[in-house]
Amino acid sequence: MERVRVLVFNAALGALDYRVPEGMAVEPGSVVVAPLGPRQIVGIVWEAERLAAKDVPASKLRALLEVLPVPPLHTSLRRLIEWTADYYCAPVSAVARMTLASGSALKGGGTTTEYRLTGEEPARLTPQRAQALDLLHGEQATIRELSEIAGVSEGVLRGMVGAGLIEPVTVDIDRPYPRADASFAVPELTAGQAEAAGLFTQSLRSGGFAPFLLDGVTGSGKTEVYFEAIAEALRQDRQILVLLPEIALTENFLRRFEHRFGVPPVLWHSSLKSTERRRAWRAIAEGTAEVVVGARSALFLPYARLGLIVVDEAHEVSFKQDDGVRYNARDVAVIRARFEEIPVVLASATPALESMQLAEAGVYRRVELADRFGGASLPGIDTIDLRAEPPERGRWLAPRLVEEMHKRLARGEQSLLFLNRRGYAPLTLCRNCGYRFQCPNCTAWLVEHRFSQRLACHHCGHETSVPETCPECGTPDCLVACGPGVERIADEVAEILPEARTALVTSDTLNTPERIGEFVAAAEEGAIDVIIGTQLVTKGYHFPELTLVGVVDADLGLEGGDLRAGERTYQQIAQVAGRAGRASKPGEVLIQTRHPEAPVIAALAAGDRDAFYDAETEARRHAGAPPFGRWAAIIVSSEDEAEARDTARAIGGRRPNHPDIAILGPAPAPMALLRNRYRYRLLINARRSAELQDVIREWLGAFDFPPGVRVNIDIDPYSF
Ligand code: ADP
Ligand code: ZN
Repeated sequence: MERVRVLVFNAALGALDYRVPEGMAVEPGSVVVAPLGPRQIVGIVWEAERLAAKDVPASKLRALLEVLPVPPLHTSLRRLIEWTADYYCAPVSAVARMTLASGSALKGGGTTTEYRLTGEEPARLTPQRAQALDLLHGEQATIRELSEIAGVSEGVLRGMVGAGLIEPVTVDIDRPYPRADASFAVPELTAGQAEAAGLFTQSLRSGGFAPFLLDGVTGSGKTEVYFEAIAEALRQDRQILVLLPEIALTENFLRRFEHRFGVPPVLWHSSLKSTERRRAWRAIAEGTAEVVVGARSALFLPYARLGLIVVDEAHEVSFKQDDGVRYNARDVAVIRARFEEIPVVLASATPALESMQLAEAGVYRRVELADRFGGASLPGIDTIDLRAEPPERGRWLAPRLVEEMHKRLARGEQSLLFLNRRGYAPLTLCRNCGYRFQCPNCTAWLVEHRFSQRLACHHCGHETSVPETCPECGTPDCLVACGPGVERIADEVAEILPEARTALVTSDTLNTPERIGEFVAAAEEGAIDVIIGTQLVTKGYHFPELTLVGVVDADLGLEGGDLRAGERTYQQIAQVAGRAGRASKPGEVLIQTRHPEAPVIAALAAGDRDAFYDAETEARRHAGAPPFGRWAAIIVSSEDEAEARDTARAIGGRRPNHPDIAILGPAPAPMALLRNRYRYRLLINARRSAELQDVIREWLGAFDFPPGVRVNIDIDPYSF
């Protein structure tokens, strides 16, 4: 009798042993169905010596039911799953589940049914049917997904199928993706670009693990260069994974990709519809998907022949996942490349200090692109000291910035105003009694969105309409806005430049690929004079007419004691500055600040990146912060405040006594109430040499937490 260990998708159970029935062939990595009590569960066959399980006598073992028709997970992927679970103190099963991201993919290929509008439009319609006709235009998906999009019940939609308004479509899940052509449109590279690309292709040819930091100023052609690496991997018939920080930004990328390789890449992100997800997953596992462009979750997919990983905008915070398995996709990408024995390219104009340090230490090979493509020069950067040159009363843009915007408008050039704050104003008060609108579920103010006439919490999504009277004192029309959000800046631009064509770019306004596409096309054509946006506008775009960037409030990100506040501010402003003067016309950047002397701002104004990295390095070294020391956080949360506090105190009361580890707290977390859960936090600062994870595991392993309490461990946390 053969006995196998199976990792089942239940964190509490972990691994269980099963008997392999006569005639069933399994190997490590096989995806199987097994009985558990009265249920059936999916699991992965694992090497018994690598996962502990309860010792069950052979006579008590139950038999596996089925091997699913998907390729077994490679050894390299199983090692990656173990590594991730171990490093981030997460259950192995929780990590493994990210690999089988599409439950339905396990059913195998074949066909499935989707639905779409037939185009019939009868004269008389119920309001619900009219709504569905309106909202489902151009959509094709399962009935359940269509019901979500249209906001009507599945029953209504089935009725519409009966009435001939919606029709079924048979979709072939196995239909292949079009093949990319490595030689479709080969660009002529500059000498510097060719040298960089040569290093990547050489490394692909010689094989093996090779981590690169592609450090190139904005507009230097980093994308063109790693496209050549992709072309080489395609010629070798290997799969390529490109991780992008925000899927909202891929529109522009997709067009460039198609221009270079003749076909679009395969997309992977959380809002893929179920059929497309199933199709992509199968093509990835079978090796027919060649180039996959995805958000961080694409990292754990079971590629059949992965040959290259690229992490673009590698410094971006959105590579850090902040719930479930709290991993950093940038770091795990390097580990995956190591297990797969392939090259990995981290591309950025403003690499994280950790990446710079690893390059300096010789762990990463640094590849530099020092010049902008096509002779474009980097923009000149100047500060506006708001104390010396204040905006007019009730305004947020200083006279010098306004004057420069006027000049751009007169010359037919574009300006971009950057403020990383959605909505109209960050805080709304009653002008009579000072009542502040606060989220009932979170430690946060409600933000007024004037265009949608709502007050919204940016943490939990809670929304209310703007009340007609103050809930506290009853004064009518009482709201006053405090401080600016992008919507308010848009209002100001409409007042000072009434003839300008403006575009407001935030996740509230640009929330579909179509809208993003329309915006990009308009901006590229020069059909927009002033772009006003949040961090959404800071990266990736290339607008030839854009010659002025105004940073409305550079101090915003520097407030609050976040470990990475300085670095993030530097990166954001450097990235948004990089949008200016990318073509033939020179660019100019004006940074509004109250602290022009702050090291971050001074380094930006001087165009001295090394000065910033040096200052930041010293500050981090002094604080024992990464990359010199390490941080971890333990977050204890519960809907019951006393329970959260008491548990956090109990954990704190048994803190380990370790010479290389300092423990701070517990204290209320910065978001002390989030989505209706009270949160307490312990911070752990460790020397690099300390076995941080082992210490935490041993420490927390001694507890039995109450059922309503969640204890999350965050290794290398981003936000404190
Ligand atoms: P980065 O990612 O470094 O900011 P991009 O790859 O976006 O730079 O390049 C900036 C612009 O210059 C893009 O419009 C790109 O198409 C163009 N470009 C860069 N290198 C070349 C090249 N060798 N040939 C033609 N166009 C190029
Ligand atoms: Zn909230």
